[in-house]
Amino acid sequence: MSERLCLVHYHEIGLKGKNRSTFENQLVTNLNRALRGHGVSRIARISGYIVVETEDRSATPELARIIAKVPGVARVSLAYRTNLDEREYCRAAISVMREAGDFYTFKVHARRSSTAYPIHTLEMNQIVGAALCEAFPEKKVDVHHPDLQVVVHAVQGSAYVYAAYTRGVGGLPVGTAGKVVTLLSSGFDSPVATWMVGRRGAICVPIHFSGRPMTADTSEYLCQDVCEALAPSGCIGRLYVVPFGEHQREISLTVPQDLRIIMYRRVMVSVAERLARIEGAKALVTGESLGQVASQTLENIAAVDDAVSIPVLRPLIGSDKTEIMERAEQIGTAEISMQTAPDCCTLFMPRRPETHARLSAVLEAEALFDKDAMVDDLLRIMEYRDYDTCPSYHPPKSLRMRHEELLPGGYLPELDSRS
Ligand code: ATP
Ligand code: MG
Repeated sequence: MSERLCLVHYHEIGLKGKNRSTFENQLVTNLNRALRGHGVSRIARISGYIVVETEDRSATPELARIIAKVPGVARVSLAYRTNLDEREYCRAAISVMREAGDFYTFKVHARRSSTAYPIHTLEMNQIVGAALCEAFPEKKVDVHHPDLQVVVHAVQGSAYVYAAYTRGVGGLPVGTAGKVVTLLSSGFDSPVATWMVGRRGAICVPIHFSGRPMTADTSEYLCQDVCEALAPSGCIGRLYVVPFGEHQREISLTVPQDLRIIMYRRVMVSVAERLARIEGAKALVTGESLGQVASQTLENIAAVDDAVSIPVLRPLIGSDKTEIMERAEQIGTAEISMQTAPDCCTLFMPRRPETHARLSAVLEAEALFDKDAMVDDLLRIMEYRDYDTCPSYHPPKSLRMRHEELLPGGYLPELDSRS
């Protein structure tokens, strides 16, 4: 009797010494959440793997694909589990080979984690190899560069038998690297930037500035779609949306034209920084890449960073657009980002934006309006939507209770979801 399950491999976690069990437990927790509603009966750690068992004892490639999207997962194999009777694991090895598709050469790789099992791995290799050669006389053994490697691993009274694997996204389990606030537009870059820090274990709390009420709310729905697309990775906590239209108009009326964009950005990061304090997040994240557009120069980056004291991470700073687009395809946000929506940045665009802003000029322009009052106001009209896919995300109990002084009257309406 054999059953089919998913074997989850992780390597980076293995390097973390004493923290290892924390990381493994987090990965198990995250997998539990990601696989809710998929007929999973047990997720457990065994000897360097995580085993995912299903109620029908017959895990599918589809289940493996869902697991592969969870940060911290290096590889997923569909494996047979048998008892340690050699006839049983040889039969499973034959099934594995039969399902393996196109290959000509193979090799058997036996491993043994329980010393209680008396048969040595050399002998296991021979037993299984002989069974496979008999069942597949047209295939050849190649111990150096096989097309297919059949693994037979004896662990705690069972044998796990598998060959192929699905590559996982790698990285670290979400929840092991703290929390960040990510500035999310519906463009190609910021969804990828968000996913990248999420993959490194950060809980992401995206904030989006829309042009509402001066523009339609299309960009808000696109950002919700982006969050839905990223949700299977488990890195999205809660999406905040700030209707920025009125305030942008105010900026456009008071600030010199060439400095408008920088001013919008300074206000945006200032709101994000306050939100980070409310959420307990330790950094901001943007999707900028150096020189990608005229505004993403070192001078402008410095002029924006000057507005906040929290670190601003830019995971895409050295990436080319084609690399970013490829990643967007892979994580499922490209199709959403292809759709255009007017957001706050297309609103009140200057004809010739400053590309090398001088900080003194920026600060002079900023003195023309009450920025602090504007930030307060924007936090007050902010809305949100929760994504119940990140087990480590805990929303602030009430923005009002915890931050009365930050949010006078702190009322926060829940965002309409597109139905
Ligand atoms: P993206 O592809 O992410 O839209 P972009 O190439 O359009 O980026 P910019 O418009 O210069 O570049 O924006 C730079 C960064 O500023 C974005 O990656 C994002 O992090 C942030 N940002 C821009 N617009 C918004 C917005 N409306 N709401 C929140 N953050 C924004
Ligand atoms: Mg954009």
